[in-house]
Order: sequence, then structure tokens, then C-alpha cells
Amino acid sequence: MLNTEASPVDPITIDTEFDVIVLGAGISGLVSASVLARQGYRRILVIDEFDHLGGNHIDHSCAGYTFDVGSFIFQDDSPLLAHFPELLPLYVPIDPSWGKISPQGIVTSYPISLKDDVLKSGILGCLRIGLSLVASRLRNRHIGNARDFARHWIGDYLLTRSGLESYMTRFFGVPAERVDLDFAEKRMLWIKEHANSKAFLRYLRPHPAAAPTNRQLARPKSGFAELYAKAAERLRAAGTTFRLGGSIDGIAKSGADFTVTVGGRPYVASRLVSTIPIDRAVDLCGLGVDQKLSTVTLISLFFSFAGKRGFPHSILYNFTHGSAWKRLTVYSDFYGRTGGREYFGVEVIGAPLGNSAVAAEAEFRRHVASNGLFVGDLTLEGHRIVPNAYPIFVDRASERVAIMMSALRQFGVESFGRQGAFNYQPTARVSTIEAEAALARVPAAA
Ligand SMILES: Cc1cc2nc3c(=O)[nH]c(=O)nc-3n(C[C@H](O)[C@H](O)[C@H](O)COP(=O)(O)OP(=O)(O)OC[C@H]3O[C@@H](n4cnc5c(N)ncnc54)[C@H](O)[C@@H]3O)c2cc1C
Repeated sequence: MLNTEASPVDPITIDTEFDVIVLGAGISGLVSASVLARQGYRRILVIDEFDHLGGNHIDHSCAGYTFDVGSFIFQDDSPLLAHFPELLPLYVPIDPSWGKISPQGIVTSYPISLKDDVLKSGILGCLRIGLSLVASRLRNRHIGNARDFARHWIGDYLLTRSGLESYMTRFFGVPAERVDLDFAEKRMLWIKEHANSKAFLRYLRPHPAAAPTNRQLARPKSGFAELYAKAAERLRAAGTTFRLGGSIDGIAKSGADFTVTVGGRPYVASRLVSTIPIDRAVDLCGLGVDQKLSTVTLISLFFSFAGKRGFPHSILYNFTHGSAWKRLTVYSDFYGRTGGREYFGVEVIGAPLGNSAVAAEAEFRRHVASNGLFVGDLTLEGHRIVPNAYPIFVDRASERVAIMMSALRQFGVESFGRQGAFNYQPTARVSTIEAEAALARVPAAA
């Protein structure tokens, strides 16, 4: 069997029969291949329509600058490193700081600042925050959506004053009252953690911060390819073949065997693991239970800059009541300036701007100019539009996901991951743990 090709392009002599096929070469797919190899599988095929490994870990390099489509921070205690220890020395240790621009135009602590969001509102403001919290607790016995959830924990007034409600709308791409409660609880658990009486006492009696238990890391300056090439090397040595850059025509089942056809070529295996979008997998299997799911299309704008930057943080969130940009990450803080210029990426939710990068750039420029965030020469170096960047749970999405998961299970497909289970996985750590758990539930190869 040929499994040592360095190129992602499918060689003509590639095998067509495998023990197991994994759809998707993001973190969930790569970890799956590693787990399956450990379980004793020797002929593993990983298929992805992207021509690169790592899924939505996408970088963009040009003119000596190096950007990502998001803000990707990793840790040296990630369980991913137990699968791919060779990644650790390639990461760049960083010391990031997180801030936000508030509705009052102040650059302050993220996500809520006791000083700027609460105390600076004055005696009357503090009273209003307290009263609105009590009223929210009394009124909102029934918590039915993301807005109710946030309102219950911090009250209406602080929700608006801190900019959290505007940020939530920006993050979800729809108003927070349309977002299902289970999603809010998963993604916004920190609100609950920061808004109970114990946390408040901690704010009032600050004690020295505990020493960090791990190191924060960014990908190598050259991009993600260098990182995941190492993972691929290990997987290839253990029996994995990669079929990248081709779209799947269909998936059929005959007896115990699955046939996945890519670009007219059939690949056969008796086990099929899927980490690609669940609705896509259901459609490819012809199961007839396709359900509508909402995902965010993310526009990433890549800028270089020379001049006066109006904030010290490497990562800045937009909590103001205006503009669709959500977060920016200053990569030159991690990798150093290029030609004396700083450079950063901006994440913008596409839908409110018709997924137009031109509109996103114009809107971003207007907003940062009015808030004094970048005073000087701001040059757009490029952009990238990523569909399916993350799932949004609206209109009881979990019920529709359950229907599709059940249909796939009955068909014999094991589907999991951020896309494969339509599951908001905030970190590669979570994706790793969930892939390990999903595969542990199924008997290993003989
Ligand atoms: C903006 C953003 C910021 C993030 N920040 C961090 C962070 O700081 N730290 C961190 O650890 N994690 C972060 N994450 C989360 C982390 O990236 C995810 O947990 C992880 O990448 C999910 O991996 P996955 O393999 O499940 O999904 P994906 O990476 O989405 O992979 C799915 C794969 O399926 C493929 N695919 C889709 N359709 C098909 C098809 N029809 N045929 C074949 N292949 C197909 C895609 O090409 C893709 O490669 C962030 C995510 C986003 C979106």
C-alpha cells in the first residue's frame, strides 16, 4: 500500500481499499486518524475537500505578513500534543492580552470591567445596575434564550451598558433572543461564572493572580502548514493516506462496506468516521433527512499599519453598539513587525454585510477612525471569506441535529466534531477530547 506521499494530490496508484475512512482533516479528523491508528487500524484514509490539513486553521501570508482567519491561541498542556508531540517546539510562545472597546469608546478589560462598566457609571448608575439585576432575577424565572440567560446573570442595564448584548448579536449574527439557551450556556458560561456573589467578592478583594499553569502559544510564523505537515508525517508512518483537495461525489453502503467516491474514484472501507458538516454528510449519504442549520460566514480582513495604535492589547473585542467587526488580533505582537509595520486580522460576521469584504472594510475603517484605534496609514493586504466558521443554534437547532445524528448512526456513520456534530467547540483541546471520547465508545479494530 502506498501511504508515504508528501503531496496532498492523489497519486494515480493510490489504494482504493481501506480499513477505515475519515472525512475531514481538521483537528477532529487528524485526532481520529491518530486514535484509530492506536486502536490497531493500519489502512486509514483521510479525505478533505480543502487542499490543506488543519480544517479551519487557515493562515494567509503576503508581503512578509502572516495572518489567520481567526484568533488562534493554543496551550502547551493541550491533549492534542499527546497525539502529535512534535508540534510543541514549532509553536511560538506568546504573552497575549485581551481587551475590549466599550460602548463608551473606552478601551478596557474584556469581557466586563468592574471599574469602567460598573463603578464609572456613578452612584446612580451603580444603583440602576443593582436594581435592574434584582428585577431581571425576579422577572426572568423562565430563561428561554441567550438574551434571557445573560439578562438573568447581569441584569438588563449592565447587559446594554457593558456592550455585551451588542457583542452577542455580533457574535451570533442574529439578535440574542433568537439564540437557543443550550448554545448560550455552552458558549457564554463565563457570564454565569463571573456574575455570582463569590466572583463579585473576588473583584472587591483582589488577590495576587495565580501563576499560570500553562503557556500560551501561536502557530509558527510560516503558517499552519509547517505544523500539520509534522502531524501528517506521524500519521503516514502509522498507516494513514491523505486524499485532499477533491470533492466527494457521494457515499454508498453495500453490506458492511461504505464506498466514498471522490472525483469519480471509489474508496471502500468497512468503517466510516465523519467530521464534515453534518447536513453535508446526510446529503452525501442520500438519507433524505436534510435539515436547515445556521452557521456563521466569517470575513477576515488583513491589514498592515504604521502610526499610533489606540490600545495596548494583542486581541481587541468590539463591544460598542456599532459596526459588524467582532474581534481583531495583532499578529505583529506575536511575530514582530514587518518592514517596521504592525499587522493584524479583523473578524467580521458576513451576513449583516451581505458577505461583502468591500463593505466590511469600509465599515471597519469608519468605526476605528471614529474611536481613534488606528491613527496613521492603514493598508488592506488581503481578505478571506470562510463559510461554516462556526455553528449558530437558532430555532431549536439541537432537535434537527439529533434527527440527522440518528439517521447517520443508523446508516453506520460515526459523526462528531465541530461540524460533524454541529457542536460549538471553542478550542482544539475540546475537539481533541471529544474525538477521543467518540471513538472510545466504539470497539477497536481486531
Ligand atoms: C474564528 C475561530 C477562532 C478559534 N480560536 C481558537 C483558538 O484560539 N484556540 C483553539 O484551540 N481553537 C480555536 N478555535 C476552534 C478550533 O479551531 C476548533 O475546535 C477546531 O478547529 C475544530 O476542528 P474540526 O476538525 O472539528 O472542524 P474543522 O476545522 O471545521 O474541519 C472540518 C473539515 O471538514 C472539511 N469538509 C467540509 N465539507 C467537506 C466535504 N463535503 N468533503 C470533504 N471535506 C469537507 C473541511 O474542509 C474541514 O477541513 C477557533 C475557531 C474559529 C472558527
